[in-house]
Amino acid sequence: MSFLTWFERAVRVSSRAALLPFLAWGASAQAPSAVTQAPVWAGKPDIAAFEKMENERLAAAQRSIDQILAVAGPRTVENTLVPYDEILRQYNSAGYLSALLQQVHPDAAFRDAATAMTSKVGNAGAALALDQGVYKALAAIDLNGADPATRYYVERQLLEFRLAGVDKDEQTRARLKGLQDKLVELQSAFDRNISEDQRSITVDNAAELDGLPKDYLDSHQPASDGKITITTNYPDAFPVLTFAKSDALRKRLFLEFDNRAYPQNRAVLLDMVRTRYEIASIIGYQSWADYNAADRMIRSAKNIGEFIERVDAAARPVAAREHSMMLAEKQKLQPAATSVSDYESFYLRELVRRSQFDFDSSAVRPYLPYQGVKQGVLDTAAKLFGLRFEQEPGVPAWHPSVETWDVLDQGRMIGRFYLDMQPRPGKFSHAEMAPVLDGIRGKQLPEAILVCNFAAPKADDPGLMNYDDVVAFFHEFGHLMHWILGAQRWAGISGISMEADFSEAPSEMLEEWMRSPQVLATFARHYQTNEVIPAALVARMNRADAFGRASWVLGQNAYSAISFDLYNRKPEDVDPDAIALADEKKYRLTVSTPGIHDYASFGHLGSYSSAYYTYVWDKVIAEDFITQFDRGNLLAPTPAARYRRLVLEPGGSMSANDLVKNFLGRPQSMEALERWMSEQFETAVAHQ
Ligand SMILES: [Zn+2]
Repeated sequence: MSFLTWFERAVRVSSRAALLPFLAWGASAQAPSAVTQAPVWAGKPDIAAFEKMENERLAAAQRSIDQILAVAGPRTVENTLVPYDEILRQYNSAGYLSALLQQVHPDAAFRDAATAMTSKVGNAGAALALDQGVYKALAAIDLNGADPATRYYVERQLLEFRLAGVDKDEQTRARLKGLQDKLVELQSAFDRNISEDQRSITVDNAAELDGLPKDYLDSHQPASDGKITITTNYPDAFPVLTFAKSDALRKRLFLEFDNRAYPQNRAVLLDMVRTRYEIASIIGYQSWADYNAADRMIRSAKNIGEFIERVDAAARPVAAREHSMMLAEKQKLQPAATSVSDYESFYLRELVRRSQFDFDSSAVRPYLPYQGVKQGVLDTAAKLFGLRFEQEPGVPAWHPSVETWDVLDQGRMIGRFYLDMQPRPGKFSHAEMAPVLDGIRGKQLPEAILVCNFAAPKADDPGLMNYDDVVAFFHEFGHLMHWILGAQRWAGISGISMEADFSEAPSEMLEEWMRSPQVLATFARHYQTNEVIPAALVARMNRADAFGRASWVLGQNAYSAISFDLYNRKPEDVDPDAIALADEKKYRLTVSTPGIHDYASFGHLGSYSSAYYTYVWDKVIAEDFITQFDRGNLLAPTPAARYRRLVLEPGGSMSANDLVKNFLGRPQSMEALERWMSEQFETAVAHQ
């Protein structure tokens, strides 16, 4: 469920100083309103041209650093903050582009060059975060008369500098730099161990795969020795865990799946825990979890612990009802069963959906051909946010399938986005929104890209999409709108630059539009008959989708607890196996399969460290936000305009806690999530 966001990637590049970003290719016109800039690939750079452009950005940033340090006399917004923001603009522009090209460029040599450039930019950002001269200059700016956003910007940058350790002595700063560099290496080793440890099992004949869909069997033919290989890759593994009738097969595959990167990542994880603890200790925090929370909405380790308990209390009663329904399905097969194992939950959930909710997910696909869905997502967002999207034809990109779109507000261009939506060898394999340029009012248009992997339409096949794919499309488009509409006066507070644990809320919210029969009726048409998706099918789809939500929340909460507990104590007290087992036992209703070591392939323990709670935290906010809309008419303009103005347009110019309060009139509460989890029992009509 976790789609890699730009933030996750930014964390990889430089673990603390949010001083990364990217910028524009074109010259920055200083005209107050009408900004024009060439699309990102207009110059069709080869590797040498790309490196030249990036190095020029780094050099420009260095000139701005020199300019700040050279100021004599009083510090002002004009002589210090303006060049400071230019440093961020240049670093961000360089970093966004290299991080993007390392994921999408078709040429492996280009991807390697881009990867090296991402490290170089990350190192520059890390060095800036420890630069006392720049820090002292920012701290000395006279902010009398500055607007609230500018004050907030400076205040927040100073916090980030202090959290990076800028006010420590030279020897300590050198130690911190060494620890940060080591952490970057450890995180990438942790990720690499996961992606490189693809495992597999073999089955002796197709009969063992009974229950799997025909297209799966067609693509898993026996080898010359008659055996069929099933890997731990998601598209290979999840259909087996969901549909295979053989309990032994599902268990065998699950054991391989949840032992990926074990034992090698045990040592890497312990090293990350030690390194992070030392950083937190030097800065003056009791634990990494507490340190890592200091610049987030949640603020402290204590609050994370309390949030996990509140989620547990809210989800457990509903999850218990779901669990008893899954157990009842299991008892049809094994009458004496008294518990459900973790590896069985996918299969049993599917059985419940079929028996209780009369829903087969393949029935929806014919209504979801790629072109229709794309137009539908764009039209929905345009209507919701009062925008117009116009494709720019004939714009060059790194691949011919990439589309370039302008975003117009009242006829005026306010941003641009790119769509790179189909898989190809060597491309990033999940779905994400990636930034391309920060939006700076009067100076630079915001740009961003969706990188996805949906089946490509062909002459005889319109690229039918799964329900989950379309939900993912809406999700990523939610990030994109946030990025485009959040343009500010300063790069450093533009787009999604607020506390990192808010970043999933606007995207998780937009997922809900996919469930609206009203919205679906505008674009979901049968690819052969052009018939609009039947409302009854949508209703069944939504009911079936609702089953298992509380169990999902409990599962996410168990991961939040593992991520928190690993980093909320002294490293000598950390035994990953004991912590994972204890938290799964405490926070889940299913029984852990003996012999698994699932923390070893839990990639977020590297990138998110103690902040995995973010996903449920933002789900709470997203569901609460939806209470401000009319569920029967999600396209109504008034609440959408208010949401745009109060939540998206401020970007990172104030705390996300204030964004929430401004929109809801109060802080977020758990009630909307509770209703969301219980929906299945309120609307379901049991089928006999
Ligand atoms: Zn996301």
